Amino acid sequence: MNAISSPSRGAYRIVDHAYDVVVVGAGGSGLRATLGMGAAGLSTACVTKVFPTRSHTVAAQGGIGASLGNMQPDNWRWHMYDTVKGSDWLGDQDAIEYMCREAVPAVHELEHFGVPFSRTEDGKIYQRPFGGHMSEYGKAPVPRACAAADRTGHAILHTLYQQCLKHNVEFFVEYFAVDLIMDDEGACRGVMAWCLDDGTMHRFNAKTVVLATGGYGRAYLSCTSAHTCTGDGGGMAMRAGLPTQDMEFVQFHPTGIYPAGCLLTEGCRGEGAYLTNSEGERFMERYAPTAKDLASRDVVSRAMTVEINEGRGCGAKQDHIMMHLEHLGSDLLHERLPGIIETSRVFAGVDVTKEPVPVLPTVHYNMGGIPTNIHGEVVRPTDDNPDAVVPGLMAVGEAACVSVHGANRLGTNSLLDLIVFGRAAARRAAEIIKPNDFVRPLPAGAGEFALDRLDKVRNAKGGTHVSELRDRLQRDMQAHAAVFRTEDSLKEGCDKIQEIWKGSSDMSISDRSLIWNSDLMEALEFDNLLANATVTLESGLVRHESRGAHARDDFEDRDDKNWMKHSVSWLNDKGETTMTYRPVHMKTLTDEAEVFPPKKRVY
Ligand SMILES: Cc1cc2nc3c(=O)[nH]c(=O)nc-3n(C[C@H](O)[C@H](O)[C@H](O)COP(=O)(O)OP(=O)(O)OC[C@H]3O[C@@H](n4cnc5c(N)ncnc54)[C@H](O)[C@@H]3O)c2cc1C
Repeated sequence: MNAISSPSRGAYRIVDHAYDVVVVGAGGSGLRATLGMGAAGLSTACVTKVFPTRSHTVAAQGGIGASLGNMQPDNWRWHMYDTVKGSDWLGDQDAIEYMCREAVPAVHELEHFGVPFSRTEDGKIYQRPFGGHMSEYGKAPVPRACAAADRTGHAILHTLYQQCLKHNVEFFVEYFAVDLIMDDEGACRGVMAWCLDDGTMHRFNAKTVVLATGGYGRAYLSCTSAHTCTGDGGGMAMRAGLPTQDMEFVQFHPTGIYPAGCLLTEGCRGEGAYLTNSEGERFMERYAPTAKDLASRDVVSRAMTVEINEGRGCGAKQDHIMMHLEHLGSDLLHERLPGIIETSRVFAGVDVTKEPVPVLPTVHYNMGGIPTNIHGEVVRPTDDNPDAVVPGLMAVGEAACVSVHGANRLGTNSLLDLIVFGRAAARRAAEIIKPNDFVRPLPAGAGEFALDRLDKVRNAKGGTHVSELRDRLQRDMQAHAAVFRTEDSLKEGCDKIQEIWKGSSDMSISDRSLIWNSDLMEALEFDNLLANATVTLESGLVRHESRGAHARDDFEDRDDKNWMKHSVSWLNDKGETTMTYRPVHMKTLTDEAEVFPPKKRVY
């Protein structure tokens, strides 16, 4: 560990470090960036609050999208079209072109790193169909999801971690990043982290910090994400005066297990599973005549919600839908979806080889995040430059918004986003940073902001425990930023969130130590959840249209004239949001691709 000095401040012992790059997060995106930066000879530290292979990426099931064409002819341009259409024309088309083209070499590279993909008879990477992935610009489903059975994220994450260990990369495991260190010119100069196991504070001086902290699914009561998905990167960025983008777009996955909420991958439907209502009807045929059960996620989640709302839900309370896999046969299920058999048995008590499993749309993914360009550099739009870059700061993965997913992400495109943009960020860092060169000293007072905040939270002596505040937040989000939204419901949600902001001054913490203090960590995570939740509701309230995952009952149509633009939310320390907007990139990166003009989205 290249610790330089260890001054103290009050109860806090500070350990100083200097690196070319500090990556915060060791999920797929953080590890891919770390690997590339280490391989380029940059001195690289990776700071993570959980052991790398316990990051949420490990839970990814269905696959990573790339038009390899191993099972049927495929083309990156079809993948690009599907992604633009899936995004409901809110994705930046140059970034989407980049991702879909780079998908092919990036997945082959993973294969060479050693990812144990499932194989076809002739030894190629196995691919399965997934929602919204079609051949020939929307004709019929095409197998594009490269899969390692139903444990693709597990296979990728472990391989990336092993590859990182080959390079001279330092891991700071179970260190909680509290806040960024910014200077007066608005550049990022490092990050402050708290070592959970011995209570020391670590001040990282870095030429570049990469936020790879994942999503904020835990802002909701029922979600498929791990308990660690608390939007810490977005929280840190917003406290540093930076914006987040397109936060109103929250993806509900159609098939969370009812009622536990754990995920049953879309790969189930990719392999041939289908949904039925209480009448036994395969209702998706009515909503999406071509793609049926393989329409994109927002479409299927809405269809399920409509079926339930119109009284055709299953069970005594008519509050869920059934998914059938039993017709696929035990052999195929054991070979391709072994994790699904186990999850269904444990969480629903159902043997899916024999009977249908109850499912319900569950919060799954955040399309919004910290705005970046295609090199992973964080963007802070100004009046004259919507693409102005923040020196010294990058963001990748679910924490970022490039934007390739726009208003709705296609399945398999997140693992792809992690790998392609983790790799792009590493390439950029290698271009702009001189390895192992002098790291200029931090400005005076660096890290004080983080220390003051941590100290305040640690000594909070109010009357409301963090868990109560978090429970209120999660219930409010579940009720007011749901599959279908209205002005009244969003407004009520915003008001309730403001009450929680007021209530946070009455927060209480029962443990005041610095060692393994999960109470303190949850309080810091709650701050981040609250920040992300606030801008989610506020940006949703003012977007008067329906697009992708943002479905307004009171504005049912997409309004390209007024709303084909990215929402940019700025949050102050009182919980007040200011909205600005950025244009969607309706251009390609090269002349080998074409721009897809907006049209009605039907599957
Ligand atoms: C159950 C499930 C299944 C999925 N299946 C698929 C799929 O098949 N295909 C697909 O494309 N997508 C899938 N997704 C989506 C995809 O897996 C995620 O979007 C993606 O893995 C997020 O990766 P990430 O690198 O951004 O972050 P994560 O994997 O969430 O990692 C975040 C990292 O940041 C660290 N961190 C966070 N905060 C701090 C902090 N304050 N200090 C220090 N470290 C911090 C954590 O320790 C962790 O290492 C799935 C998601 C879920 C939940």
